Amino acid sequence: MPGLIERYRDRLPFAEGDPVVSLHEGSTPVVAAPWVSERVGAEVFLKLEGANPTGSFKDRGMTCAVSGAVRDGAEVVVCASTGNTAASLAAYAARAGIGGAVIVPEGKIAAGKLAQALMHGARVIALRGNFDQALALVRELTQRHPIALVNSVNPLRLEGQKTAAFELVEELESLDALCIPVGNAGNITAYWKGFTELGLAPRLFGFQAAGAAPLVEGRRVAHPETVASAIRIGNPARWEEAMTAMTQSQGAIEAVTDGEILDAYRLLAAREGIFCEPASAASVAGLLKHGADGARRIVCVLTGHGLKDPQTALEQSGSVVPCEPELGAVEDAILG
Ligand SMILES: *Cc1c(COP(=O)(O)O)cnc(C)c1O
Repeated sequence: MPGLIERYRDRLPFAEGDPVVSLHEGSTPVVAAPWVSERVGAEVFLKLEGANPTGSFKDRGMTCAVSGAVRDGAEVVVCASTGNTAASLAAYAARAGIGGAVIVPEGKIAAGKLAQALMHGARVIALRGNFDQALALVRELTQRHPIALVNSVNPLRLEGQKTAAFELVEELESLDALCIPVGNAGNITAYWKGFTELGLAPRLFGFQAAGAAPLVEGRRVAHPETVASAIRIGNPARWEEAMTAMTQSQGAIEAVTDGEILDAYRLLAAREGIFCEPASAASVAGLLKHGADGARRIVCVLTGHGLKDPQTALEQSGSVVPCEPELGAVEDAILG
């Protein structure tokens, strides 16, 4: 499969001959989830966005945002990030041969994401503040300097991310409901745009972490807290659009606790063989907790790969078995 700009050029704001910065993102697998299906009493599929080049759905938006920045002559792209946007920006900026800078909340991004951003050569700035403060600062910065902002306030990000809805409809033909984690609310907005362009209206169920649930509480959260660092956001940039998507689709936005997120995270790995990051598991945690109001065919979006956050994985899993280098000891260790 080519990258998504080539695959969906007729539905994206790119003309023939425009520069395309691609790592062959998109075209990610949709797999059946027999264990979750059984628990929920409906047909549940998982969209594995961790299979994108840098391990999260952010690549869908980033191929478009960075291609657009190159078309506009930008020499530097910048974003505020809880981690995955930083990793994705860094990779696409490297691919494009332009500068990349990312502002992340100090000490609050998963190890894999930090490693990616640094390896791809982005300038990584650790802000002594949270994501919401980082976003406000980069918005100001890009008004003063000729630097392209590639957060999901950039409309090209949503254009790229809407293609996941196209893929789902091509693959499954029909679905009744979509369950999705919500942080800055760009992705739920993008899926709704994609479905709307196809004339479809599955119900959108968005899930926020209980300690970072401004859309559920109806007010900004000054100090968002959750183990799901990718959705640790107290003032979503796409607040209005997310509420519109929810209302128009007759869906809902609900909260799930960190305990529920981590349960779903472990169960997906152990029962379905799918290792996603904690924020991604919020979609399944939400479905298990709140249901999908009678929907028969449901897709849960698993937004990022489990390898992004090895520390949480090790904290949430069993311990290794030490062993002497002798057959008897190995037999005991494996069969005992
Ligand atoms: C960015 C991200 C989210 C949240 O997406 P929004 O568009 O900010 O709502 C969820 N999960 C993962 C893994 C992410 O990287």
